[in-house]
Amino acid sequence: MASVSLKNICKVYPNGFEAVKDFNLDIEDQEFIIFVGPSGCGKSTTLRMIAGLEEISSGELKIDDKLMNDTEPKDRDIAMVFQNYALYPHMTVYDNMAFALKINKVPKAEIEKKVKEVAKILDLEPLLKRKPKALSGGQRQRVAMGRAIVRNPKVFLMDEPLSNLDAKLRVQMRLELSKLHQRLNATIIYVTHDQTEAMTLGTRIVVMKDGVVQQVDTPENLYNYPS
Ligand code: ADP
Ligand code: ADP
Repeated sequence: MASVSLKNICKVYPNGFEAVKDFNLDIEDQEFIIFVGPSGCGKSTTLRMIAGLEEISSGELKIDDKLMNDTEPKDRDIAMVFQNYALYPHMTVYDNMAFALKINKVPKAEIEKKVKEVAKILDLEPLLKRKPKALSGGQRQRVAMGRAIVRNPKVFLMDEPLSNLDAKLRVQMRLELSKLHQRLNATIIYVTHDQTEAMTLGTRIVVMKDGVVQQVDTPENLYNYPS
């Protein structure tokens, strides 16, 4: 549970390219914020700055009113889910989900309890001993979600997490995500190209273009926005 505040955030890449210009947004605790906009408009760059994977050129990033600009990614209490899942191919589902906790030296019994609890939520219990190559696309995506959830982060960042799934699975996972959001009481920041995902999942939608925020509004208001 966390609020996230972006104040005058800018990103200038080392080659001089201004990818994000003066980004302002106050995200409330438990919001499901959606970033939309054409490819190259700065959505991923903004997510990566929030995660600490990309340096913030100027402006202030706060999580729960604490300045985060110079905080290491591992100390930000954020988990990121990518479109390509990035599971460890040689590890079982269990070990994939347990990995971050092991690294952080969480006691074994506690890891087991947590992984099993999350596996239950995501319907992954029968698959814990399998390796990623023996899973369907939707199952892999659920493992990637599970790996983020076990860490109990304050904020989830998701970069087109469903874009590699076929249409049927995307619909199914979209419904699951909606339930998951309620169940976890999580703050989620989510990038998508899919208008249906944006409309059905978002508490608010941020429309970006050329590194600039064009609009921030609820799905209802955006949907009825005169064009
Ligand atoms: P989106 O996620 O909206 O597709 P990105 O945030 O990935 O957009 O990229 C925004 C812009 O910044 C694009 O024009 C991209 O080419 C550029 N960009 C991304 N990474 C770098 C980089 N490391 N150096 C220079 N330009 C970059
Ligand atoms: P995305 O799916 O976010 O649009 P891209 O395919 O644009 O990703 O970028 C993939 C990787 O290449 C990222 O790590 C990004 O930082 C880097 N990148 C993108 N555009 C540029 C660029 N113009 N110069 C250098 N690196 C770039």
